[in-house]
Amino acid sequence: MIASPRFKPHAHRGLHARIAAMPDHPYVDALVIGAGAAGLCIARALALAGLDVAVLESERAPGQHTSSRNSEVIHAGFYYPSDSLKAQLCVRGSQLLYEYCAGRGITTRRCGKLVVTDNADGIDRLHALLEQGISNGVTGLTLVTTDQLRQQVPGIMATTALHSPATGIIDSHAYLACLQQDIRDRGGIIACGARFLHADRDAHRFRVSFTDDEGDQVIMAARLVNAAGLFASEVARNIDGLPAAAIPETRWAKGNYFSLAGRPPCQTLVYPLPERHGLGIHLTLDTTGSARFGPDVVWTERVDYRADEHRRAVFAAAVARYFPGIDPARLQPAWAGIRPKAFQGGAPVNDFVIQGPTENGVPGLVQLFGIESPGLTASLAIGERCAALLEGTA
Ligand SMILES: Cc1cc2nc3c(=O)[nH]c(=O)nc-3n(C[C@H](O)[C@H](O)[C@H](O)COP(=O)(O)OP(=O)(O)OC[C@H]3O[C@@H](n4cnc5c(N)ncnc54)[C@H](O)[C@@H]3O)c2cc1C
Repeated sequence: MIASPRFKPHAHRGLHARIAAMPDHPYVDALVIGAGAAGLCIARALALAGLDVAVLESERAPGQHTSSRNSEVIHAGFYYPSDSLKAQLCVRGSQLLYEYCAGRGITTRRCGKLVVTDNADGIDRLHALLEQGISNGVTGLTLVTTDQLRQQVPGIMATTALHSPATGIIDSHAYLACLQQDIRDRGGIIACGARFLHADRDAHRFRVSFTDDEGDQVIMAARLVNAAGLFASEVARNIDGLPAAAIPETRWAKGNYFSLAGRPPCQTLVYPLPERHGLGIHLTLDTTGSARFGPDVVWTERVDYRADEHRRAVFAAAVARYFPGIDPARLQPAWAGIRPKAFQGGAPVNDFVIQGPTENGVPGLVQLFGIESPGLTASLAIGERCAALLEGTA
């Protein structure tokens, strides 16, 4: 575990109070840029390891971007190649997340998930997903016959499904609130409305500038974590000493959601087979029992979280394929999220990119790119991994 000789437990104080109290050299052991699920989990892991931690968040509150605009699904981990970070961190993260939520009274529901198909090629792909899941260590996966499927999901137009009983849903807002509480309970600071501007490093520490309501500020940090989600590449370009070619590009893939008025057709999640850049427009439920369909994949260069009404026909067709009995008039544009997709050399990476001090060539620096799905599920495991990468580096 990381042990900091400088750590002194103290009551929560804002970053300004810290800077004012240490006018010559305002300092923290670790500074995390971004208070989404990933940044909060990393800050929490570092705080639990005894470090004096601060989080810089440009928005007025944590979790205003991807972490509060997703399907809230706790994925089991059968989609991803076994040697990928997504597979490893999803399987570990799902276990950690269920345990954490049970301990903290956060609502989760193991409602299970069906990946459905209506054709022979699809059945081959379901077999491949089953094998992949077993190899990744996912338990309980089974193939479901047409009769069983129709009993479970009345009115569904599919012949075969892969059933994942370990998949569930989470109240992500309660989760983010508990993570913040853990950080503050350990004396950590979450500074909202504070936008990272620039960092450089001398032999020992980073000199980090940020701006907030009171103007531009500077703080020193022994460790720096870039967990800025959609803006991670932009943040990386403002850290001195990183070769431009080593910084992955982040492209944005918007996912619209349409809510379903009235009673959901079933109480399990229903997905088509995955597509190239997403898991396919699926039926998802939230912990209050409401249903929605989404997300689609629309490449964008703008942060706009309004659902696009023009996608109605696409949604109606996707829903009609497996749920022909659902009246499209029940679909209403709800909201959208945006996936940060990592590209390297112009090609999609298709995995999380987590660069530790070795990959960055900078002691004490960890950076995360392309933390798309299953990043919420994986977040506690991401925290664990990043804390390990920083162990002994400062
Ligand atoms: C449509 C959609 C559906 C998804 N569904 C699921 C799902 O069902 N299950 C699942 O496990 N995962 C899902 N995901 C993925 C999951 O939501 C993300 O992987 C996760 O939320 C990423 O968290 P993050 O902390 O990396 O990013 P974010 O939540 O975006 O946090 C990054 C933070 O950095 C801050 N920031 C940026 N720049 C700066 C700066 N200069 N200074 C200070 N702060 C800055 C931002 O304001 C933001 O708060 C989905 C994602 C999308 C888009």
